[in-house]
Formats: sequence, C-alpha cells, structure tokens
Amino acid sequence: MSKCDLCELRDYTQRYCEFSYPFKFTILDCDSCDTPMAVLGEHRREATADEKKLMVEVLSVVAGAKWGPDGFFIDDVMRQIPDHCHIHARRIWRMR
Ligand SMILES: [Zn+2]
Ligand SMILES: [Zn+2]
Repeated sequence: MSKCDLCELRDYTQRYCEFSYPFKFTILDCDSCDTPMAVLGEHRREATADEKKLMVEVLSVVAGAKWGPDGFFIDDVMRQIPDHCHIHARRIWRMR
C-alpha cells in the first residue's frame, strides 16, 4: 500500500479530534493552508457518501466554533494530494 503525507499525519499542527468509529478520520490544521481539514484514516481517493457526510459535519462544527456558522465554506477539491481523501474548511473573508 502506498503512503503519503496524509497517511503519516505530522504532529506539529493543531489537532481537533480523531474518530475511530464508525470509521477512522482526523480533524487537524493543514500545515500548508493553515486551516482545519478532515483527513480520512485510510489511503483512498474517495470517501463513501456517508463517510463524507460525517467528515463534513464534524469539520463544520470545528470551523464554526472558530469562525462562526457563516465564516467558512467546505472545499473538497484535493489539489496537492489527489489520491487521499481530505476536505478543507476555508475561511470566508468579508470586506468591512
Ligand atoms: Zn491544505
Ligand atoms: Zn495517504
């Protein structure tokens, strides 16, 4: 099985939570984007619809606590590591 940076999550960013049931995933700060992301615990390109739903839900709670319910959006485009499922929460910057 191939390994990537998301399989070997480094310890130097903020971790918010780790799930082991009903499946493994971790919510932590992305070290390149400096924003919370959900990372599937297995090296797979696609999460199932149920897996994705739970990851987005938990990630939304974490991001909502940081930036408020309207302060972020969910970004599931995998730019840097396209073969390991991960989802970013990105801050919405508003001009005042
Ligand atoms: Zn990132
Ligand atoms: Zn991986």
